Amino acid sequence: MSNLPESIIRPEIVALSAYHVPPAEGMIKLDAMENPYALPLILREEISQLAEDARINRYPDPSAAPLKTILKETLSIPAEMSVMLGNGSDEIIQIIALATAKPGAVLMGVDPGFAMFRIIATFCGMNYVGVPLSADFSLDLEAMLAAIDQHQPAVIFLAYPNNPSGNLFDTEAICRIIEATPGIVVVDEAYHAFADASFIEKLMEYPNLLLMRTLSKLGLAGLRLGMLVGRAEWLTQFEKLRLPYNVGILTQLIVERVLQHYDILLEQAASIKAERAILRARLATMGEVEVFPSDANFVLFRLNEASRVFQELQRHGILIKNLDGTHPLLTNCLRVTVGTPDENTQFCKTLRRILEKPLQLA
Ligand SMILES: *Cc1c(COP(=O)(O)O)cnc(C)c1O
Repeated sequence: MSNLPESIIRPEIVALSAYHVPPAEGMIKLDAMENPYALPLILREEISQLAEDARINRYPDPSAAPLKTILKETLSIPAEMSVMLGNGSDEIIQIIALATAKPGAVLMGVDPGFAMFRIIATFCGMNYVGVPLSADFSLDLEAMLAAIDQHQPAVIFLAYPNNPSGNLFDTEAICRIIEATPGIVVVDEAYHAFADASFIEKLMEYPNLLLMRTLSKLGLAGLRLGMLVGRAEWLTQFEKLRLPYNVGILTQLIVERVLQHYDILLEQAASIKAERAILRARLATMGEVEVFPSDANFVLFRLNEASRVFQELQRHGILIKNLDGTHPLLTNCLRVTVGTPDENTQFCKTLRRILEKPLQLA
C-alpha cells in the first residue's frame, strides 16, 4: 500500500495542524478580532443594489484598477508605491512565501507572533525561524540581529501592532532590523486602524521594506481583502504568483462603495478604541488579572488557571482565545477581542463571577 495520503503528501504537510476555527454559533464571539458593528442600513441597502446589478456571470476585473485607485486615495498610500491585492492578507503572505521559497530559504518572525507566518512558511517549503520576544513582548533586538546574522532570512514578517500581544514594537528597533537584514521586511499593519503609528512613511526610505494592510479587522472580514504596498520592482515579481481572479466582483464593488464612506469605519474604530480603554480598566480591577497594553482591537491578559477560566467562559456562551500552552511567554494568557459595550460588559461580568467562584463543581 503506497498510495496512502502519508506516502503521497509531503511529510511537513502531514505533520502540520490546520488553522483551528472553533464553532461560534449563538455565542458572544470575541475570539477573532472582528469589528462588532454592522454598517448603517442605508449603506447596506446600497450594497444590496450593487449585488443586484453585479455581472456575476463574468469574471471580475483582474487588475481591480478602480478599487486600487480609491484604496490609494483613502489610505494615503504614497503615489510612488504600487499596490497588490489579496484574498485577505493571508493570501499575500502566501504569495510572498511562494516567491521567496528557494531551497533552504528562511522566513523569520517573532514568537509569540501571528500563527499564519509559521504555517504558510511551512507549507510553502520554507524554514520558519521564530525569534523569541522579551518577557514584556517587546522586540529583543540583540536576539533578532543575531538570528538575522545566523539564518540570513529571505523575508522577515513583523506585525505592527503584534498579534497576539497587542503592542507596537519600538520603531528604532524595527529600522535596525530593516537595515541589517539581507532580505525583505514585511511590516504587517493588520491593526493599523487601532494604533496611532505606521511604517508607511518609511517605504520611501527603505527599498527592502514592504507594508501589508487588511480591511478584515476594520469591519469587512467577510469580504476578504488585503493589500501589499511597496515598490514596483518587488510587486511586479509577486504579481506573477497572484492567481488571476483572486478578488471577487462583489468584494471589489462593495469595498469601493464602503471606502466612499470610510469615515464610518473610522468612527467604529474610534468607538472600539474607547471601549478598549474601558475593558482594560475593568480587567485591571479584577484581583490577580495582569492586563497587557494594547494598540489593537484586542486585549491580552494573564490570570491563574487560564484554561479553566476559558472553558467556563465558553460554557457561559462567551468565546475568546485561549493562548495558554501555545508559547512559554503566553502561559496562563487569554486574548479577548473588543466587542460592543454590551458584549464587553457581559464578558467582564461573567469573568468576575468565574473568578469569585474558583472551584465550581460541574
Ligand atoms: C488577522 C491578521 C491577518 C489576516 O488578515 P486577513 O486579511 O483577514 O487575511 C494578518 N496579519 C495579522 C497580524 C493578523 O492578526
